[in-house]
This record gives sequence, C-alpha cells and structure tokens, in this order.
Amino acid sequence: MTRDEYREAFDAIERKWQSRWDTDRAFEAPRIPTGDHFYCLEMLPYPSGRLHMGHVRNYSIGDAVARFQKMRGREVLHPMGWDSFGLPAENAAIKHGTPPAKWTNENIAAMGAQLKRLGLSYDWTREIAAHRPDYYRWNQWFFLKMFERGLAYRSRRWVNWCGSCQTVLANEQVENGRCWRCASVVGRTELDQWFLKITAYASELDAELDTMTGWPERVRVMQRNWIGKSEGAQVRFAIVDDASRATGADLEIFTTRLDTIFGATFCVVAPRHPVLAGIPAGAEARARLDAFLRRIDARDVTRSGMEPEEKEGIDTGLRVRNPYNGEILAVWTANFVLMEYGTGAIMAVPAHDERDFEFAHKYGLPVRTVVEAARPLPTKGGATIEDGVLVASGPYDGLDSAAARTAMLRDGEGKGFARPIVRYRLLDWGISRQRYWGTPIPIIYCERHGAVPVPESDLPVVLPEDIPLTGQGGSPLAQVKSFVETTCPVCGGPGRRETDTMDTFVDSSWYFFRYCDPRNARAPFDPGVVGAWVPIDLYVGGITHATLHLIYCRFFAKVLRDLGLVSFDEPVKNLLCQGMVLKGGTAMSKSKGNVVEPDDMVSRYGADTTRLFTLFAAPPEKDLEWNEKGVEGCFRFLERVWRLLIPRASDLARVPPPGEEDGAGDARHARLRRRVHQTIDRVTGDIERRLHLNTPVAALMELLNETQDFCRDASDADRPYLKEAGLTLALLLQPFAPHISEELWTSLGGQGSAVRQAWPTASPRWLQEEQVEIPVQVNGRLRARLLVAPSISETEALSRAQEDARVSAHLQGRAIRKTIYLPGKLLNIVVG
Ligand SMILES: [Zn+2]
Ligand SMILES: [Zn+2]
Repeated sequence: MTRDEYREAFDAIERKWQSRWDTDRAFEAPRIPTGDHFYCLEMLPYPSGRLHMGHVRNYSIGDAVARFQKMRGREVLHPMGWDSFGLPAENAAIKHGTPPAKWTNENIAAMGAQLKRLGLSYDWTREIAAHRPDYYRWNQWFFLKMFERGLAYRSRRWVNWCGSCQTVLANEQVENGRCWRCASVVGRTELDQWFLKITAYASELDAELDTMTGWPERVRVMQRNWIGKSEGAQVRFAIVDDASRATGADLEIFTTRLDTIFGATFCVVAPRHPVLAGIPAGAEARARLDAFLRRIDARDVTRSGMEPEEKEGIDTGLRVRNPYNGEILAVWTANFVLMEYGTGAIMAVPAHDERDFEFAHKYGLPVRTVVEAARPLPTKGGATIEDGVLVASGPYDGLDSAAARTAMLRDGEGKGFARPIVRYRLLDWGISRQRYWGTPIPIIYCERHGAVPVPESDLPVVLPEDIPLTGQGGSPLAQVKSFVETTCPVCGGPGRRETDTMDTFVDSSWYFFRYCDPRNARAPFDPGVVGAWVPIDLYVGGITHATLHLIYCRFFAKVLRDLGLVSFDEPVKNLLCQGMVLKGGTAMSKSKGNVVEPDDMVSRYGADTTRLFTLFAAPPEKDLEWNEKGVEGCFRFLERVWRLLIPRASDLARVPPPGEEDGAGDARHARLRRRVHQTIDRVTGDIERRLHLNTPVAALMELLNETQDFCRDASDADRPYLKEAGLTLALLLQPFAPHISEELWTSLGGQGSAVRQAWPTASPRWLQEEQVEIPVQVNGRLRARLLVAPSISETEALSRAQEDARVSAHLQGRAIRKTIYLPGKLLNIVVG
C-alpha cells in the first residue's frame, strides 16, 4: 500500500468507527452508576469558532484515561459542553453585526464537528451550553439562594475597570495591572456591584489545600498564596491632638510583625480610609489631601494587593500614639496601602519592611533598627526583613522575634489595645459585568423596596436576543426598555431590572454537577445523582486556571454543600494540569505565525496519529514541542501496525489464542509471550498508578518491533502467539489510537467493539523472566548448576551460589579472592 492508500484507509476506519460508536451509544453513561465508577472531566471550551492544539491535547489526555477506565470495568462519565457566554461573542457582534446567539451557536456546531472528527468518547446526550436559558436559569437560582443567605450582596466599591472592554474586572482577572483578556492597563472606578461572599469560606478554602493530595503541588501553592492567610495582631493607636492628648478616636492597624513595633516611625492609611473624613473642610491639610486624592485617582491604579509602580503619599497632619512606647507618630496616606486589606492602615517600620523602607527613603522619614542577628541578615531593598533578636525595644530587648510577638501580644491583650487576628488576602468575588452576553442578575429595583430578588417561579430572567450592540457606554441591557421596565414583585409598582450580567466564571463554577443531570427542569440537579458521580475522579485542564476557576468551583461546592445539595467538601479529587503546546519554543499564536491547525493535522495524518502524537511527545504535565517529524513517526508506527497485522488478520482470526502454558517449550514463542505480558503490565501501571501516557506509547512501539522480528521467520505453529500479540496490541492501543484499535480487534476475530472489552491482564506466569542454567565453579572445578534469570547481577549470582550446599561446602573457611562472572553463562569463584 502507498502512503496515500494508508491515509485513505485510516480515514475510512475513523469514519466507520465513529459512526459505530454512535449507533452503539458506546459512551452513554448510566443515570446512576451501579458499581465502580469514574468521572473523567476536561475543562469545557469557550466556543471561539475553532479548536486549537491545546484543546486537542487536553481532550486526548482525558479521552485516553476515560477509555482506559471504561475497559478497566468502571462506569465512566465523560461529558462535554460549552462555556458559551463571554465577551468575544459580543465583540464579534459589534464588529460584524452578527447576533451573539447566532455567532455562538454556529461556533458550537463547528467545534462540535471538530471534536467528533477526533473520535473523543463523550456522552453527547449530556452536552450543555451556558448561554441556553435551561442552563443559566440555575445561575440565577444559585444567586437567589446566596442572596437569601447574605452570600450575595450589593456594595458600592472601587473596582477594577477595563476601559477597552468597558467592564469591571475581578482581581483575579487583572494580571500585572493589565486586563487578562485584552491586556489594556486597568483603571479604577466606583460602582454599585454585586458580590459573592467567597471570604466566608477563606479559612476552609485554605485549610483544605493540605488534604488535597490529588492536586499538583504548584496549584496548591498558587491557591494558598492567592488566599493569602496571615496571622498577626490588630493594634489600636489612639489619635491625639496637637498637645498629644487623646481625642477619643482610634486608628486600628494590622501587622504580622508585632515584634518590630518599637521600630515604627510613622503610620500609613489607605487613601479612602474613613479616618481621613475627620479632617475638617477648610483646613489646610484637607486641601492638600483632596489634591493628592485627585492626583492618584486620575492615574491608573493597579490591582488591589499589587504594588503601584511609584509609591506616593502625603502627611495627613493626623497624629497617633504608639501604645507600646508612647511615641507620637505622623499618619501618612499613600497609594500602596489598600482599604480592602486588613484595616486599611499600617504601622511603617522602614528598618524591617522593604516597602516601608522605600517610602521612608523617598520622603526622608526616620529609620530605626529594632531587630538584630548574630550574623548579618540578608537585606532586601535596604530593610532587614528576617526574624532576629530584639534591640531598642524596652522590656522586650533580647527576646527572639517569635517569642517577642507572643509576649507583646499577650501584654497588649492584657491592656486592651491589641488582639490576635487571622487575615486573608482573598476578597469577595465581584460578579457584576456591564456586558450583554451573560446571565442576567435576577434583581428588580423598586423605589419603595430597593433591590428585590426575582421570585424563583419567574426564573429564568431571559436575556433578550437581537439587541443593538455598540460597545459604547455602560450595560447594553440598560438600552432595552422591554427588558428593563417591569414591576416590583413586592408591591406591583414600577420596577427596573438589574442590567448588569454575571461574570462568566459563575457559569463554569458548577457545570460539572449539571452534566450529571443535564435535562432536569425542576432543579439544577438531583442531589442523589450528583452524589453518585461526584467528586470528579480526574479533572484535566490548563494551569492558567489555578487561581480563577479552580478556586471559584471549590467555593461553589461549599455553598452547595451548605444548601444541602451535595454532601462533600471538595468537588475534584484528582487534578491534572497539562502543559502547553509549543512550536519553535513558544506558544502557538496567530501573531507569531506558528499555529498548527487540528483540522489540517487530521486531514493529513488522521485523528489517531494526531492524538497519538500529543500523548507520546511529552508527559501530560510538561510542555509539548510540536514537531512534524514526530507526527510523521507516529503515522509510520500506525502504518507498521497495519502492514504487519491487517494482511494476516483473516488467517489469524481462525486460530485460537494460546493456552496459559503454551509456548513454554519454544524459546521464540516464550520470548514473545513474555514481551506481550510485560507490555500489558507496564502500560497498565503507567496509566493507572502514575498517569503517564507517553511511556505506554513507547512500550507499544517496542512490542510492535518485537512482533515484527517474530514474524520474520514465521511458521504455522507461530500463529497463536502472533494472534495473542495482535489482540493485545489492539486493546492496549485503544486509549491512544482508538480507531485502529477497533479495526485491528475486529479483523483479528475479536467480538464486539474493542472499547467494550475488558482491559487485558498480565499473566504472572509470563511476567517471570526466562530462567537459564549456569555452571558454578570453585577454583575452576564445576560444583553446581543454578537456575537463574539471565539478567541476574554478579552479586546476586554469588549470593545464590553461596546458598547452595554443594558450593558452600567448598567455600568453608576459605577467603574469596575474586569471582569471574559471565552473565547468563558462568560463575567461577576463586578462593585462597
Ligand atoms: Zn480588557
Ligand atoms: Zn416595590
């Protein structure tokens, strides 16, 4: 067969088996599993219009595991759907005038066809799409449930604002001060926003990371940092007047370094700190402060919790007293202290904090060292930030930092001006977006009743289709009179609907529950069904979601648990973050011109080859370098499988496979059988225990080589062994190249489809190494013959010989001077 003929043959079998799986409904999962089960999930794609290689890799990994688990006898749930709300649909509408719904539905159809062409084992009867009312009505329902419990609330806040996307961004969506989506510099603005109270679960979200051993360590570290737990103290500084008398007002500061409080030389409050409101209008300090606030507001402020490029501040004129040493300190305000964290106020200790040092240096403020060490401590930007021993700290001199923190906190608590406190960097999740293509927030505003939730029976609040989109101004829904104008559910008077939509990360926070019960019209899902399938056994997706989606979905699971809908704490047992697909060392992108199109690959090589390459070229969690030669190599491997076995298949189909003991008497037969069973053992262990998918492919390539060698001088007596090798290869290929696996299985006389067969098990009989007899000599005279594996080491051979009575009799009381060992052939022990 020519190369083109192979290509056509592959194409034909791919179509054939895809339609067979369809008619057989091979991948439909039961509503409730009755036995051992496995929920295999890949992150659902945004329907941008076409798959990229990153998708192909993600789904090939999930598919390999799903098929393997199915053959291991588990009932497998392996669904797919669409994260179909979001900005690109809206932008396409603005640019081309296509309604977002039309654009989205067309993209889903196109990408669905691409997925089907790859032969992925999805249960398509469970397909969901976030933009359909039967899905997003449950976003609204969850919102109402959270609203009832105070977990969804409205608040006027300074928010991150992307001027180019015309929308608010969550902190998680600001990367290095820029919009995660369009990379514009993010600004700040004040808006009424809806928030989900994720901070209510901060402590649990943090603590449980310790037990989540099925998650990659780096993801857990990223989440831990994101949640940002810190244990410290809250200390009350009295505000004093010009004569240093207490005014009765206080400033509360939060610190994790109470041991350095004698080194505090000033305090800093956030520009929006309420204490500043106390500065009277007309005062000179007021005018200077207002000018400063205008200046920093005009500038692009970076994300909360991130350092502004230039630290700026002014002395507010306020003065406070340090309760530990009575010292009077100036209160500054500066752009690097944020209201959202801690108390919005800090004590500045320039000697022991890098940021404070930089600020003190800029404005010529005093620096006082209060922590020292026997050896010089490393410094960072001029500050000594490590723990040490206290100096210039009154009664605490000589204590080490940790002991000082304990003692100072105890004393401060005793005197009533300090208390221990745990803080988190995590902020509540702002979900309001001034965009059209998202879930409407189910709230109606009434003049008399304020923000009133839409009654459950009125859900869904349907997103109107076909509305004018300009990309200008605020929420597009605000322009749609028929949507906005409604009646108040409480009084029946005029009401106005909320016109912001939900952050699309709400959609993806619970979709995997919906897959379990996707057509439920009365509830988001039946708790009994979800309880039977979830937690997810394996979740595959990109590391880019480590802090966004993967924290939100944990939060949702906890809320759902507290609503009594699920009974577990964590939704995902094992997480695999696959590496990127690179070409020429960088991520594929249109601008770099290094994009490899999945459709193009499938057309040129077939789905099996494309999938096989993405699995073989790198371990799942490592980056994969796209390499045409490697793809070619995978194609040739499948071509060789075909050439070796398909022409012999009808002949082999009539031969029974060998019995357990058959072949032992013939070295060639025994050797092939050992290789077959060793390969089963290796492939099984690599997938099941280590989730390695590249090494099994290598093992299959070796088995093919071995089988090919075996065929070189084949006779009729060889046929059962060749058949065993062929059937094994067919089944072991199923997770990696499922179409050729099916074709091979059927051609060799296998019954039913390969994916429905039991995964082969290695026979212990054939896992044993072949044994050979080696003569053992003592000083050149034959004393015994030992039966050993040919690969046995010299040390092992000698110890086996010493255990043998016939040999040990001649070693009694004599020192071994040396041994001569020819592996698998001879052992000679020379004694003195
Ligand atoms: Zn943007
Ligand atoms: Zn009302």
